[in-house]
Amino acid sequence: MGRDVVMLGPPGAGKGTQAERLANRLGVPRVSTGDMLREAVARETPLGLEVKSVMASGGLVGDAVMVALVRDRLAQPDAAPGFVLDGFPRTIVQAEALEELVGGRPLHVLELVVPEDELVRRLGGRRVCGSCGANAAMSERGGRCARCGGSLVQRDDDGAAVVRERLRVYHRDTAPLVEYYRESPGFRRIDGARSPDEVAADLARAVTERRP
Ligand code: AMP
Repeated sequence: MGRDVVMLGPPGAGKGTQAERLANRLGVPRVSTGDMLREAVARETPLGLEVKSVMASGGLVGDAVMVALVRDRLAQPDAAPGFVLDGFPRTIVQAEALEELVGGRPLHVLELVVPEDELVRRLGGRRVCGSCGANAAMSERGGRCARCGGSLVQRDDDGAAVVRERLRVYHRDTAPLVEYYRESPGFRRIDGARSPDEVAADLARAVTERRP
C-alpha cells in the first residue's frame, strides 16, 4: 500500500493538525513547507530572509525555491517509506514537479473541505509558538509551547487583512489543483468541518482502504 499522501485544502482547513495525526498513524514524516519556511525565517537563514516578506503579505514563495526545498526534504531517509505533505503542492507547476519527484508513483490526495466563514473564524483564533513556530493546536501545554516552552502568539500572517489575501491566493493558485487531481484514483474529498477525531478517522480510512 502506498503511503505517499498530499493534503489539500485552504488555510484553516486543519491540514497541519490532521497531517500530523495521519503521519503518526502511518509511521511516516509530516512534511510541512509552511513550518520549514517559518523555521528558516525564525533562524534568519538566507532562505528565511528571502521569503520573509512574501510570507508576511500572504503571497506564495516561488515555485523553483519550493520545489528545491521539497526535493531535498523527500530525499532524506525518513521519507523513503512515505510522507504526508502539508502545504505542498500549491500550484500546478509544483504538482507536476512532485509527480516527477515520486517517479510517477500514485499519490493519495486528500482534500479537506471547510466553508469559508468557518475558515476565517478558525484562522482568527489560531496560535503558534513565537519561538519555534509550532502550531499550538498540536503542541500546547498550559498556554505555552509543548515543544520548547515558548509563548504562544498569533501567526504574522493570520491577521484579518492577510487572511483575506491568503484565501484569495488559495482560490486563484491552489484550488485548481482539485481539478488537476480529481480524476486520479487516490483523490478523496473529506468534510473537514466536523470534530478533529471524525476527520482523522475518515482520512485514515481513505489511505488504508484505497490503493491509488
Ligand atoms: P502554511 O503554513 O502552509 O499556510 O504556509 C505559510 C506560508 O508559507 C504561505 O502563505 C506561503 O507564503 C508560504 N508557503 C508554504 N508552502 C508553500 C508552497 N508550497 N508554495 C509557495 N509558498 C508556500
